[in-house]
Amino acid sequence: MPQSNRSLKGQIALVTGASSGIGRAIALALGASGAAVAVNYKRDCEGAEGTVREIAAKNGDAVAVQADVADERAVEAMFAAVLERFGTLDILVANAGIQRDAPIADMTLADWRAVIDVNLTGQFLCLRAAVRAFRARSRAAPPSRALGKIICVSSVHELIPWAYRANYAASKGGAMLLMKSVAQEVAAEKIRVNSIAPGAIRTRINRAAWETPAAADALLELIPYGRIGEPEDVARAALWLASDDSDYVTGTTIFVDGGMTLYPGFEGEG
Ligand code: BGC
Repeated sequence: MPQSNRSLKGQIALVTGASSGIGRAIALALGASGAAVAVNYKRDCEGAEGTVREIAAKNGDAVAVQADVADERAVEAMFAAVLERFGTLDILVANAGIQRDAPIADMTLADWRAVIDVNLTGQFLCLRAAVRAFRARSRAAPPSRALGKIICVSSVHELIPWAYRANYAASKGGAMLLMKSVAQEVAAEKIRVNSIAPGAIRTRINRAAWETPAAADALLELIPYGRIGEPEDVARAALWLASDDSDYVTGTTIFVDGGMTLYPGFEGEG
């Protein structure tokens, strides 16, 4: 019988964009599994402190760390603060992401850059800093089988083209090959790099897609499993990817999407 090991006791995690939504749910799940969690936020200090309080309420250890992941100096300072506070890093969850939707003919360079800067460059900056932190650590009595674990929060739109959101889909497609290229590069050092691709998860970013019954019905047409996802659906996958239960998994994307990538429009058609 294989023994499951999802405990993250003694491990240190940094979750970007953890003041709300998917990042918050992941931070809570990692905290509940025994990891000490650095809860990153850009502007929503209140939200981040809420995540920290919830982890602490379950006897976990957490701290809020401010940084705009698109800003190189801010990311470097954030990693330095995390290493200073906790001594090392075991898990990075590169989750922070934004949308700035616009038809292609109207999309401003600012809309394009904002999304690429946070979703793609932000992941690059955090992955790079995490690899450096993993390499710097001593392997004496490692708390897990890997030297370090990186989980990128991507999207079904790393695969599914998305009209009116070309910036977003491009950022996620780019993030997919960023993840795989880094995974290939660092696998021999026992650093695992994977992505989670959420579908329609009930958070602030897609409120318009689920808040009215008509919008929710239209959205459900795209989801074979018949329900909108919850942040906890994604958090459970993140917990697995962070734990030794997934020790032989690297360079892959786990779709947590209720079947959105099954192209449900083709059922009985085509
Ligand atoms: C987007 C959401 C969208 C979902 C499914 C996510 O990556 O951020 O706005 O609902 O993909 O299309």
